[in-house]
Amino acid sequence: MDYLNLIKGIGPKTKTYLEKLGIYNVNDLITHYPFRYEVLKRSDFFNLNQGDKIIIDGLVDSVPSIFRFKGKMNKMSFRLRTKEAIINVIIFNRAFLKNHLTINKEITVIGKWDLLKNTVVASDIIFEGIGDSVKIESVYHTTSGLSKKQLLRFIDDALKLNPKIIDYIPAPIALKYNFIEKREALNIIHHPTKAEDVKKAMLRLKYEELFMFMLKVKFLKSKKKNLNQGYSKEIDMEKINSFIENLPFKLTQDQLTAIDEIIEDLSSKKVMNRLLQGDVGSGKTVVAVIAMYIMYLNHYQSALMVPTEILAKQHYANIKKLFKDIDINVELLISATPKKEKEKIYEELEQGRIDLIVGTHAIIQDNVSFSNLGLVVTDEQHRFGVNQRGNLRSKGKQADILYMSATPIPRTYALTIYGDMDITNIKTMPMNRKEIITYLKHPNEIKDVLTMIKSELDMHHQIYVVAPLIEEGESDLENVNKLTRQFELAFGKKYKIGMLHGKMPSVEKTKIMNEYASGNIDILISTTVIEVGVDVKNATMMVIFDAQKFGLSTLHQLRGRVGRSDLQSYCILISDKDTARLKIMTETTDGFEISEEDFKLRGQGDLFGVRQSGDMTFKIADLKKDYKILMQAKKDAETFMEHNMMDDFPEIKKEVEGSFDLD
Ligand code: ADP
Ligand code: MG
Repeated sequence: MDYLNLIKGIGPKTKTYLEKLGIYNVNDLITHYPFRYEVLKRSDFFNLNQGDKIIIDGLVDSVPSIFRFKGKMNKMSFRLRTKEAIINVIIFNRAFLKNHLTINKEITVIGKWDLLKNTVVASDIIFEGIGDSVKIESVYHTTSGLSKKQLLRFIDDALKLNPKIIDYIPAPIALKYNFIEKREALNIIHHPTKAEDVKKAMLRLKYEELFMFMLKVKFLKSKKKNLNQGYSKEIDMEKINSFIENLPFKLTQDQLTAIDEIIEDLSSKKVMNRLLQGDVGSGKTVVAVIAMYIMYLNHYQSALMVPTEILAKQHYANIKKLFKDIDINVELLISATPKKEKEKIYEELEQGRIDLIVGTHAIIQDNVSFSNLGLVVTDEQHRFGVNQRGNLRSKGKQADILYMSATPIPRTYALTIYGDMDITNIKTMPMNRKEIITYLKHPNEIKDVLTMIKSELDMHHQIYVVAPLIEEGESDLENVNKLTRQFELAFGKKYKIGMLHGKMPSVEKTKIMNEYASGNIDILISTTVIEVGVDVKNATMMVIFDAQKFGLSTLHQLRGRVGRSDLQSYCILISDKDTARLKIMTETTDGFEISEEDFKLRGQGDLFGVRQSGDMTFKIADLKKDYKILMQAKKDAETFMEHNMMDDFPEIKKEVEGSFDLD
């Protein structure tokens, strides 16, 4: 069933573009929400330059004349009398508007200002008053080859094509909150006119998403009670202790406690369903490795899933090292694995000859079967949605699950969104770590920053540089392209500079990252794509431009890329805005504390702020900003479940229960 093909204009090529955006069906299209809105203000006429965007009010000052080209094209032009001047307006292919453009009619024109010709090349003419100062435009993530206009047309067609958009908010709840209808909300989200409407639409869609999320969490939790018929594993303390003694370092108290809790889970008949939270560098991997070791001793297979190939390789190398004295068969499975080798791995997994497989979450997909999968470990769990959470359980026969996350969140909050799991926190860092020193610098102190960078480079250490944008955009935020050119000028003679961002093909990304990891690249300039998990011990400095654009948790994650050895490391935040908030970063390196702060500040982001992506794979909700909605949805979901209302709402039941494949 490939509904996308039903939409006019979506051929094989367009389909690949859409797939790049994660759009595989009509529903994905409809829920490909704008990631932000742009509020257009009326232009300050006398400050416009050639080619600037212009939004201006005026009265129609001449009868429009129309020029028709061969084919269907036409061009209409007329004069507009504004407060400031009389200017010309040209607009293409809107000849049908002519009758509305009567003399002295008040209109607003949006377009591009051709100063030299005293002319606006209009993209839009608006008749109804658009309020004091604004028009709202939706901004979408898209990919080259696919314009916003095309994307929006596909979305509109998808909305029309889908006669039945399922509304998951039960009527009594919709009534209680006076929610607008789903279809209307979807229309507004994609075609915003007024800020208030967008607010209403967002609230409605966010609530629905969070309500369904909470129902799924509750459902999983209720199922968890039935998961008591797992298999208890033998715990050979002697072997485990000797493994721990042979590690190249001494485990921290928190690591030992985490191991105890896991041992308890594994030795009981209960199926483990545990979240291990701990800051970047707190040493979660070795805890997981011990769980895998126990599985190996019990003749079960383990799988470690991570979100990216880079991480998979790194984990693989680390784990091999930790297991160097043990006869355990560890394999790596990523998409770059040659086909022949892949087939061999599949076969050996099925025959039980591989004890531990490391890879991206593709390893758990349908065509992979295990002989005896006993444990699934997932790293950076917040990247996987709640649906995946449930489905992991079903892969092995009552497989135990350990989730690892380096995004610590406050306890009350964790209990809500991870309500279906047990939680272990690692709060202490390994002893030999030096605290990362963080500076907050004003952009005009860039010379100091360059001096600091140079002195690290002189010690043959490596540097990360992060900026919010990839290329020059409408805003004057720093971008990776420009910084790369500037760093080439400043350091390129002596040092190698690499660039990394999300629009690069993944082969290229992996190549650059590997070069950095092996020390061939000295300065890596990137967007936040390096955020997750990578471990380059020789990297000692993280420089973040326009730091105000990032959430505290993201900054904390980024900072965690350095300070991964006993070398003194530094983080430099460059910004002249929002410095009170950023100052927290210079005061603490405790992830739990930072996340408390971050959550305290939640809700400060306004309606038109950029949505943080990646977390939990939500489409519109933002767990941090939408805390209140989440809590309300949680309460309602509880009531809903307590009153067994699911049976009265078959569509909700189907979506909640059908998302999981539990026996
Ligand atoms: P994370 O929690 O971010 O996944 P890792 O497990 O990758 O952290 O550990 C980071 C580094 O610290 C690894 O190189 C690991 O070998 C090392 N490490 C882990 N535990 C300790 C410890 N108790 N003492 C010293 N180094 C440790
Ligand atoms: Mg890790």
